Amino acid sequence: MNNRGKIYVVGIGPGNMEHMSLMALKAIENSQVVIGYKTYIELIKDLLHGKEVIDSGMKKEIERCNLTIDEAEKGKTVSIVSSGDPGIYGMAGVILELVNKRKSEVDVEIIPGISAANAAASSLGCPLMHDFAVISLSDLLTDWEVIKKRIKCAAEGDFIIALYNPKSKGRENQIVQARDIILKYRKSSTPVGIVKNAKRAKEKVVITDLENMLNHEIDMFTVVIIGNSNTYIDKGKIITPRGYKI
Ligand code: SAH
Repeated sequence: MNNRGKIYVVGIGPGNMEHMSLMALKAIENSQVVIGYKTYIELIKDLLHGKEVIDSGMKKEIERCNLTIDEAEKGKTVSIVSSGDPGIYGMAGVILELVNKRKSEVDVEIIPGISAANAAASSLGCPLMHDFAVISLSDLLTDWEVIKKRIKCAAEGDFIIALYNPKSKGRENQIVQARDIILKYRKSSTPVGIVKNAKRAKEKVVITDLENMLNHEIDMFTVVIIGNSNTYIDKGKIITPRGYKI
């Protein structure tokens, strides 16, 4: 056991264990304690036999991260798990900020994972083949005005746009406003991919366009990918050309 204690901030990927890295598996295997939001703990439950498992609810991120540091400071090896990549709207930021604030001596290692955008893109074809922007529509921690400005700039800059946290109960209008902003810079026939539960058992893939995207189910288990001005649909796949002469 490492006396200083060790925290692995583990990205478990989008869902099924097949999409988790070997390093993520190893980190969890090496940990005495595994901490995470209960949905993610459920996804990896087969790896947790004999471990101390602490699951917690959604809006308890800071508490969960403080607990992770407390456990590591006892000299234990602790994994805190995030879905997808822990450095993309995951737990890596809070852990590093709190470790600094607490002047903790624990060792932190961040294990990357396949993020929702990569996972969804592979189910859609190759929509992210050129420069893209990832934008979260959640205004819990970010002002809506800032989010709108980023959508506008990404749309104006012809970036492919991957929208995380597109919609949830009680937060239904942001996706409508986002589409309206993007429509000012892009044709209504621009391809849009909507993937719910990417790489999980109940994955649902929809290929549509800016005009029709709001007629489809979008929720907090969904990522929405909006093509750039060159993106097209062929044989059920969304393709963004890289620029090769073919
Ligand atoms: N750290 C995560 C993102 C967390 S933010 C990652 O890198 O993927 C939560 C948002 O991610 C959800 O609202 C949804 O938009 C997206 N998301 C996470 N997992 C997903 C999945 N399997 N399928 C589709 N979207 C997903």
